[in-house]
Amino acid sequence: MSELTLRAEKLDAADDLAPLRNRFVLDDVVYLDGNSLGALPAHVPDRVADVVRRQWGELRIRSWDESGWWTAPERIGDRIAPLVGAAAGQIVVSDSTSVNVFKALVAAVRMSHETRTEILVDATTFPTDGYIAESAARMTGRTLRAVTPAEVPAALSDRTAAVLLNHVDYRTGRLHDLPSLTASIHEAGALSVWDLCHSAGALEVGLDRHGVDLAVGCTYKYLNGGPGSPAYLYVRRDLQPRFDSPLPGWNSHTDPFGMSPSYTPAPGALRGRVGTPDILSMLALEAALEIWDDVSISAVRTKSLALTDFFLRCVRAYTEPGRVESVTPERHAERGSQIALRCPDAGEVMRRLISRGVVGDFRHPDVLRFGFTPLYVTFADTERAARILSEELA
Ligand SMILES: *Cc1c(COP(=O)(O)O)cnc(C)c1O
Repeated sequence: MSELTLRAEKLDAADDLAPLRNRFVLDDVVYLDGNSLGALPAHVPDRVADVVRRQWGELRIRSWDESGWWTAPERIGDRIAPLVGAAAGQIVVSDSTSVNVFKALVAAVRMSHETRTEILVDATTFPTDGYIAESAARMTGRTLRAVTPAEVPAALSDRTAAVLLNHVDYRTGRLHDLPSLTASIHEAGALSVWDLCHSAGALEVGLDRHGVDLAVGCTYKYLNGGPGSPAYLYVRRDLQPRFDSPLPGWNSHTDPFGMSPSYTPAPGALRGRVGTPDILSMLALEAALEIWDDVSISAVRTKSLALTDFFLRCVRAYTEPGRVESVTPERHAERGSQIALRCPDAGEVMRRLISRGVVGDFRHPDVLRFGFTPLYVTFADTERAARILSEELA
């Protein structure tokens, strides 16, 4: 046994989160793609079966009340809230992240003065946010400017209406400085919209503490809600009365069953709702979130950094220098929960890795992406992934 396999054993033995792995359905692959689709918590299938067979099959329409279907978007929002540092009553679960980016960004622009004619968007963003920002700018008559998060402070002015940023770069795993960027955006009198897809469930976000205005995120990555599970929208409490949704569906009406021809928005976070919620996905997510009842985000963050540190150490020990280059920042304060390695033949290397039971993913044009979900990835997995990677790179 090598020094690093022994080290992995020790780290796993000392890991308080290690027992959680048994609460997930995992075979003997090393699953490092939880930043794309989280693994299935073992109790979820029975819960979904109950929702289908009993709540839908037997109670039918009664379930909107009796099974709590109608209030699920706010209830589950309150369950996500502590994971992103938000007090209750500010998060609603609905639709996809893409749709919520649209709602949040248009609503932010509508809250700004008309002399604020510019929207800034993260130039390194996950593409959907950029596409939607372009459309939101066109619809609201603003111009859109793409700048990197580092360039945001210099790009801000009294013309800036809103700034849409990713908390963690999906490609490089770089963690952006949410507290200081939000403070700069506020100093310029603009509103911040943060996309938390790659941070929620992996690290502390502190939405309330840092005065974030609006935020969105998905639930199928580090929150393990299942494929296409609904996303969430955070609207800071004091902004809720001014939240003017570009998608004012009947579900956010103050009296949805009044069936009024004119729209009067409900108070609170549920203004972010649009139409009938996707109950099967939503309740699978609610069940999946129970895993977090006994887990603190700070413990998850500590383990995440230990895993990514250990992975880099193993890759450096096993791989010929210069064969891969890490594009993930070394500094903990700038690192999310993934390691991204560049090499010219990344697509082919990842294909071979997956065939050998190490599941990461490839991002165009030359990035090998390895996501570390502290709830179920072990240090032994990490060492094995680095060892098999080095064999495939040799
Ligand atoms: C995964 C991801 C999305 C996904 O959006 P969907 O609408 O769920 O497809 C959006 N933004 C970021 C930053 C992501 O990482």
